[in-house]
Amino acid sequence: MKDRIKIGLVGVGKIARDQHIPAIDGHPGFELIACADPNARIAGIAHYQSLEAMLDAEPDLAAVSLCAPPQVRFSQACVALAAGKHVLLEKPPGASVAEVAVLAEVARERACSLFTSWHSRHAPGVKSARAWLANKELVTVMVRWKEDVRLWHPGQDWIWQPGGLGVFDPGINALSIVTRILPRPFFLKAADLYTPSNKHNPIAANLDFRDDRSTPIRAEFDWRHGDEEIWEVEVTTTVGVLRLAQGGKHLQIDGKSWDLGEEREYSSLYERFAELISDGASEVDFSPLQHVADAMLLGTRYSTAPFFH
Ligand code: NAP
Repeated sequence: MKDRIKIGLVGVGKIARDQHIPAIDGHPGFELIACADPNARIAGIAHYQSLEAMLDAEPDLAAVSLCAPPQVRFSQACVALAAGKHVLLEKPPGASVAEVAVLAEVARERACSLFTSWHSRHAPGVKSARAWLANKELVTVMVRWKEDVRLWHPGQDWIWQPGGLGVFDPGINALSIVTRILPRPFFLKAADLYTPSNKHNPIAANLDFRDDRSTPIRAEFDWRHGDEEIWEVEVTTTVGVLRLAQGGKHLQIDGKSWDLGEEREYSSLYERFAELISDGASEVDFSPLQHVADAMLLGTRYSTAPFFH
């Protein structure tokens, strides 16, 4: 059997535990040998308090997955690429758009694979939605991404700090889907951003986009939502209505559900990472982050009630 790719996880928080560890364990091509986190550990895996310490002590590492908050993504990716490691970036791939472009160049110079992973694009309905929409004429697009921040981000302070994106942290998942499935590129016309008076980032945002044919594309993100999340995209075309629900897990066209098989977002993500490493290629797309940056540029800001965890 071919040698497995020895990989290290950086940032052992919610997403590393919920998704990365099981996905790596389930992939025959990867072997998780180390982790780096100031405090958190993974039972049975070598632990280091920083990425630098992990790289010094584990020369056999070939790849790293960067799952710490986005504010440290760029510096960690630079260190890993300088050491000649392949790098998977959790979403968002950076705290700014330009830093991701810089990383793409560094990865090219170092002949390493860089993967801006957008897990929601690997939801089971996304590929079929993209294929169905490829030759359709759009009438309107409506995106609703609403959840309870206390449920999904309990105690996380980084989401409220510069670079943490606020409600765009989940909203960027919706943007990663629509940038993947819509047949034409689109751009932001206007946005309303609602920010708690004691925080840096929005808790809710309404975004109005257009494509070159003036198709209205609206997205509503809200973290003040009740018990039941809404993560859906509805695309009305001249010949029918496509609806992706549950973050891309369910697909309906004109009310009829499609059989999509099992949900395996992160398994699919690691399959793609293995493929990129094997091909000596990178996959770098920052278009969802560009739309967030544009919202921060163009958005009208409203101050709302202070937020406390
Ligand atoms: P989290 O639960 O706060 O975990 C982040 C972990 O990274 C914490 O253990 C943190 O340690 C650690 N960390 C902080 N600075 C570090 C550093 N310099 N080096 C190494 N580790 C460091 O956050 P999360 O929810 O897993 O999110 C992490 C990333 O995954 C974010 O970009 C998020 O958008 C993305 N993501 C999250 C989800 C989700 O459902 N949560 C889903 C998909 C993607 P301390 O707590 O001690 O600071």
